[in-house]
Amino acid sequence: MKITFLGTGAGSTAGSRRFKAGILVEGKEGKIVLDFGSGINMRLEDMRVVPDAVFITHLHIDHFSGIFDHLVRRQIDRVPELKVFSPPGFSEVLRVYQKTNNISAQVMEDHLPSGKIGDLEVYSLEACHKIYAVSYIITDGKRRVLYSGDTLEPCDTVLREISGVDLVIHEASCLENCKEWGHTSVKEAINLFRNPVLTHVPAQLEGEVENSVKGKALLAKDGLSLDV
Ligand SMILES: [Zn+2]
Ligand SMILES: [Zn+2]
Repeated sequence: MKITFLGTGAGSTAGSRRFKAGILVEGKEGKIVLDFGSGINMRLEDMRVVPDAVFITHLHIDHFSGIFDHLVRRQIDRVPELKVFSPPGFSEVLRVYQKTNNISAQVMEDHLPSGKIGDLEVYSLEACHKIYAVSYIITDGKRRVLYSGDTLEPCDTVLREISGVDLVIHEASCLENCKEWGHTSVKEAINLFRNPVLTHVPAQLEGEVENSVKGKALLAKDGLSLDV
């Protein structure tokens, strides 16, 4: 599997240095995007990548607002309908935009979204956030990746899964203590996980985050690619 970080900013990130949440996962046969915050549509267009499906972790704006621009692009380019897997609520938002825009998507809503796209199998578990949210496990049959989405650790459902996982991609929304907003801090993430890749990071704190994770985690940046 190839993982490319399209957007690594937190909801609180300002400016264009880190776009909002979005990760491209490419298998041998399938291409999926995990979360689709603002800017992700532009990254995909620059890369000339058209995903088969999108898996949304939750309905906070920084995790799905870029998808509507992407749906317009697909309509213009006459690309087949995008499959969108999401916790309940996405289709309601889409319906509002559809009244004024000629866009469409094949939406599959479930409390625990799951699907098989080419050789990639995706399933979810309930995360621990301010609103209902899920984390995703992605496997190509050989390797397994966990993407936390937004979650406050220690979150039992997430921690239960990590033993069988080859790579943990975890949010780290502040340096220390962001419980109040349902988030995990850099400090908590590096204490709980072995060599995680940290994302959903406020661009304003980048330097301090970089210093505090040295040798303990990889701080993802927009454009980073990893072969797993
Ligand atoms: Zn977020
Ligand atoms: Zn959130």
